[in-house]
Amino acid sequence: MNKQLRKAVIAGNWKMNKNPEETKTLLNEVLPLVKDADCEVVACVPFIDLMAALDAAKGSNVKIGAQNCHWEKNGAFTGEIAAPMLTAVGVTHVIIGHSERRTYFGETDETVNKRVRAALDAGLTVILCVGEALEQREQGITEELVALQTKIALQGVKEYELSRVIIAYEPIWAIGTGRTATSEQAGEVCGAIRGVIARLYNQKAADAFTIQYGGSMNAKNAAELLAQPDVDGGLIGGASLKAADFAEIVRAASQG
Ligand code: PEP
Repeated sequence: MNKQLRKAVIAGNWKMNKNPEETKTLLNEVLPLVKDADCEVVACVPFIDLMAALDAAKGSNVKIGAQNCHWEKNGAFTGEIAAPMLTAVGVTHVIIGHSERRTYFGETDETVNKRVRAALDAGLTVILCVGEALEQREQGITEELVALQTKIALQGVKEYELSRVIIAYEPIWAIGTGRTATSEQAGEVCGAIRGVIARLYNQKAADAFTIQYGGSMNAKNAAELLAQPDVDGGLIGGASLKAADFAEIVRAASQG
């Protein structure tokens, strides 16, 4: 397998942090530090911050993403945002199926699939999150579970659309805990996901497919995780809120 065939993507997941003013401040710190990145850089910010982020990132190499979208184009869905609303303002990426959405907001593999379909139909690039809980890892069912999450989420997704799908392997026990998967664990599961893509589509599609690791990736451990042959980038939570740390991760991905 050839890592050169695929694009490395480092995406920040700001979660429910920063107001519009703080968004501008953080992006103004990040932008000069990542301007020479040899990988794709994305900042996924809260809905309320999208306009400020798009404005701050205008003309830069940083793309702006949202953290969720609904599957309908409009309608009586209080509190939701539709995918075409995101593209209308210039958003290019959206995180779908983050474990915090699955755990706290009742997101299921089926609703994840509907959101993935809607996001692709609207022209967005999807960062699709999959990953196991600690009990599931201890039961030895990680790869089975992640394969199932992947298969259901990609139902109805055509091969030509895969260039706008990124999978983020995020073991739930590693998210926001400071407990990172070992680079071998990350590489193993990302490799298994690539195998699922090869079986669902074909080897060429799998070789070109970007798979990120996410879960307490930081300035110190990024290089080792990103050196794994099947880890093409990272979805970064906590460390994306610190400009220097995020930039260090981008540098590590640019050298990979
Ligand atoms: C995330 O929210 O996707 C994530 C990986 O968070 P953290 O880096 O803080 O573990």
